[in-house]
Amino acid sequence: STLLTLSGVQHHYGRGTRAVAAVGPLDLHVNAGEFVVVVGPSGSGKSTLLRLIAGFEHPSTGTVELAGQPPVPGRDVGVVFQQPRLFPWRSVDGNINAALRWAGVPRADRAAASVDLLAKVGLSGLGARRVWEISGGQQQRVAIARALAARPRLLLLDEPFAALDALTRERLQEDVRTLTNRDGQGAVFVTHSVDEAVFLATRIIVLTDRPGRIAADIAVPLPRTGV
Ligand code: ADP
Ligand code: ADP
Repeated sequence: STLLTLSGVQHHYGRGTRAVAAVGPLDLHVNAGEFVVVVGPSGSGKSTLLRLIAGFEHPSTGTVELAGQPPVPGRDVGVVFQQPRLFPWRSVDGNINAALRWAGVPRADRAAASVDLLAKVGLSGLGARRVWEISGGQQQRVAIARALAARPRLLLLDEPFAALDALTRERLQEDVRTLTNRDGQGAVFVTHSVDEAVFLATRIIVLTDRPGRIAADIAVPLPRTGV
């Protein structure tokens, strides 16, 4: 079933003669359970495309619909950025709890939900640690747990592993792949790395620069393994 639909979407920053075309025009349909990886050179509109899908940005023309409605940030989509953007002075549980509260999970259910989320991202037992006491890779795991707090239909990831060392990156790639395989969650993932794209994607979209259009849309033929 269709999860995400972009119809005639075009986006530019600024107005008039100073307007910068960033994305489109493009059309895109993503089905539930697809793991779409968007690759393309710097400036090709990858981040803008994610911001449009997240609902952080409204397209200059065209429409973005998630299950037939405009996306509501933090409710329908979970977003993970290159930097984890956590509250550094709070505990891991405190960060996840804030996301659960924001997602409308009743207070009485939050502790159990937090335990589940930490288990999902491989951080069981670390809830009481302060964010500044855990590694960069662990912080990114907290960011993923937070993005999953609202049980979003769609997970958006913008170069989430770019700042991590190679070994940590590999482990997190495996875990994200397992996680989305298991839950059948849709995902749109932006990366510079073709290796990462091939490892994670069920579908790869290549954007060209000037201005961000879809140059190729490739179904990855082999089913993903590793569950
Ligand atoms: P990518 O993520 O592929 O590097 P971006 O979506 O960041 O591409 O950028 C696409 C185009 O939009 C680029 O030309 C960039 O300079 C421009 N752009 C991105 N963000 C802004 C902004 N906030 N204001 C003005 N121009 C922007
Ligand atoms: P502080 O920085 O004030 O010590 P935390 O950042 O640890 O607080 O926690 C912030 C919020 O998260 C508080 O409302 C706290 O009650 C809640 N919280 C902390 N740990 C848990 C947990 N294990 N389960 C559910 N909620 C928690």
